Amino acid sequence: MALRLLKGVPVSSGISIGQAYLLGEDHYCLIPRQNITKELVSHEVERLEQAFDRALEELKKVRETIPVEQSEHVAILDVHIMILRDPKLRSTTKRYIEDMHLNAEWALEKGVAEIERKFEAIDDDYFRARAQELRLLTRRVKNQLVGNPEPVKPITSRVILLANNLSPADTAELDVSKIMAFATVQGGRTSHVAILARTLEIPAVVGVEGLLSSVEDGQIIIIDGLKGQIVVGPDDEELTKYTDLQYQFEHYRKEVMRHRDLPALTTDGHRVQAFANIELFEEVSAVFDYGAEGVGLYRTEYTYLNRSDLPSEEELFEEYRDLASILAPRKLIIRTLDAGGDKIGQGFEYLEEDNPALGLRAVRFCMRYQDIFKTQLRAILRAACLENVSLMFPMISGTSELRQAKGILEEVKSELRSGKIPFGEEMPVGIMMELPSAVMIADILAKEADFFAIGTNDLIQYSLGIDRTNRFVAHLYQPLHPALIRSLKCIVDAGRKQGIEVSMCGEMASDPYCLPILVGMGVHCLSLNPQSIPGIKKVLRSLSYKECAALLEEVLQSDSVTWNNKLIRETIFKKFPDELMFYSSMLEREEE
Ligand code: PEP
Ligand code: MG
Repeated sequence: MALRLLKGVPVSSGISIGQAYLLGEDHYCLIPRQNITKELVSHEVERLEQAFDRALEELKKVRETIPVEQSEHVAILDVHIMILRDPKLRSTTKRYIEDMHLNAEWALEKGVAEIERKFEAIDDDYFRARAQELRLLTRRVKNQLVGNPEPVKPITSRVILLANNLSPADTAELDVSKIMAFATVQGGRTSHVAILARTLEIPAVVGVEGLLSSVEDGQIIIIDGLKGQIVVGPDDEELTKYTDLQYQFEHYRKEVMRHRDLPALTTDGHRVQAFANIELFEEVSAVFDYGAEGVGLYRTEYTYLNRSDLPSEEELFEEYRDLASILAPRKLIIRTLDAGGDKIGQGFEYLEEDNPALGLRAVRFCMRYQDIFKTQLRAILRAACLENVSLMFPMISGTSELRQAKGILEEVKSELRSGKIPFGEEMPVGIMMELPSAVMIADILAKEADFFAIGTNDLIQYSLGIDRTNRFVAHLYQPLHPALIRSLKCIVDAGRKQGIEVSMCGEMASDPYCLPILVGMGVHCLSLNPQSIPGIKKVLRSLSYKECAALLEEVLQSDSVTWNNKLIRETIFKKFPDELMFYSSMLEREEE
């Protein structure tokens, strides 16, 4: 039954009113690489030929519907038809099926990548533009191959995007400038679509049951990213109410921006650093726009997604070096590849795993694919000639893993040395603290790492046993759970004892409710999505270290999340009515 009011998990604040755009299930599906038997080769070639023919027919039909006065559009379609007819594209792809026994989808990826490389190598804008068109066309053929004959609808105006799920690979392919808000059926507060929405400062609600059956494509809807609600087909009264709330929220956001360049300092002079988390090179401008003092987490996996090949050392080196030089003298902490889990690039071997989150992820993935790891390490080390670069390893579970990763780093260093290639000998090497096993031996790890960065998204997932992408357990995401508070204290104390810096780069760092506890604990640096920095600075600048430390003492004695939330709301958050109104998701969940 179609519902008028849908509920989900609010993951990015704000109100958006606009037209729904439904993204089909298979729209951006990732196709696994498969090796086919010799007997299936001719069948696979036939499948490929048919997909090409059907995509060609489809394009011709589209061309016929375009009015003649839109001559530019017609001309583009003619070029596309020409490319699809080009025997070179078909024969290159066919070769991958015949010679390497690959499935048609994967052969198509390989064939297109090969031609693309040739186009891109020609120093001419015309050929570069052709390479992009080729990629778009491949989608059309791929849709035919996977039995989804719907042509890809281009997003032409600003819309609210609704989907079952959006993986990092999907979101990286979208023209985000056209998206006003997101809502998905799957997902939780720290799933990647949530992080992206906060980075883009657009409202988002995830874990919405019945979303795709209750909303029609093109229908007007309201996304309430404050309360986690979606109003389908609003009446006049609802439109007025939400337009008003939208105005109030925008006003708050502008007001908060006044704090962006002020130091993150409590009323009694306790200093905390405010760094940014970024995942795309382009986000570097946000670091400056929102007053970040450095980049505490650069998630490097995005460079590996949405491409059929792997980035070369040179490409990675240029990316890291450019980022470091734009940021200098601000720090740049590059995290090595955290692939696996829901971050699977097409250039990686496809592995069927029952529990990807407990599988070959992050540093474990890098240990299996040491060539990929070493290429990245070489690039990071070379970029570290700029002294503001540090490296950190994700998902370290214990000393053996850390020593193994550092061992490979040393191998790469000696290779660079013997090749007389300059690199940063003194580059600091830290680790993400995001597994309960690492917490238990934080004192030991602190002796072998130059710094700690606490990844609460995973630490909560693995400590409380809740899949961060599973909507049915999203309500159990509880950063103020006594077990988590004790874990954090254990990490911070171990860091302090050893004299190393402890930062936090999980989403908890951008939650104003958790801030007093983190300040009281003595976390040195908070690394958060850039857009949350001014708001966090505003709250921090009205707190005193003394009151935060006292609050922490009380929280450490507490036996429940409910009590912790109550304590924080009643002692400190009375002072912040705006934050209560606009970031009340945690309290609401408690009241439910
Ligand atoms: C974390 O786990 O908290 C973190 C920052 O890393 P990611 O969200 O990329 O797993
Ligand atoms: Mg993590």
